[in-house]
Amino acid sequence: MAQPYIVGLTGGIGSGKTTVSNMLRSQGVEVIDADEISRSLLTPGSFALEELTRHFGEQILNADNSLNRAALRELIFNDSAARLWTDNLLHPLIREAILVLVRNSNSGWLVLSAPLLLESAAYGFVDRVLVVDSPEQLQIERSLQRDNANVEQIEKIMVAQLSRKARLAAADDIIRNDGDIAHLQHQVAKLKLFYEEQANVRHQTG
Ligand code: ADP
Repeated sequence: MAQPYIVGLTGGIGSGKTTVSNMLRSQGVEVIDADEISRSLLTPGSFALEELTRHFGEQILNADNSLNRAALRELIFNDSAARLWTDNLLHPLIREAILVLVRNSNSGWLVLSAPLLLESAAYGFVDRVLVVDSPEQLQIERSLQRDNANVEQIEKIMVAQLSRKARLAAADDIIRNDGDIAHLQHQVAKLKLFYEEQANVRHQTG
């Protein structure tokens, strides 16, 4: 099977990436999710979690030795050297795991959901960039509803991420997540048809 046509899905925190991924998955689309891969690389006993613990100490662990995500987030978004160290450890591992999944895929096209798709040169292999965009106020409100975090933390993460403007400038396609779920679903359905066509064209013309 030829390499699948790859749609890179990204967006700021709370923009709606996971919601869009879930909609696509429920319609049978293959989604590779960098956040899920990151979580699976950081299970107790894993190489990556042991390295993190060696570097930062047990402050990043829960009582059961699992990763305390809130503690790690707090640490790296208050210390850019800590963030860089963590990125340098995890990003190559995540990229390698993604490439294995892409190579093993039998799909004509797939979605690669990655929060840092545009921040890193590591994802130059995607064919198309899809950005989920929502107004910053909504990003904050939705993130607060979902996560065990506070406004300051969410804002720090947003500052560390690419600006909304830069992200939109890099997009081939944009989903505007500023309405209700039906509004989102409608845009996702239209794009799914478009990507199916694009993948067909790609595979026919080689
Ligand atoms: P991301 O993965 O980009 O961080 P999520 O998809 O997890 O964002 O969305 C953040 C939160 O907002 C989730 O709780 C999600 O259910 C909710 N949400 C996303 N889009 C909408 C929408 N159009 N209407 C209402 N809630 C939404």
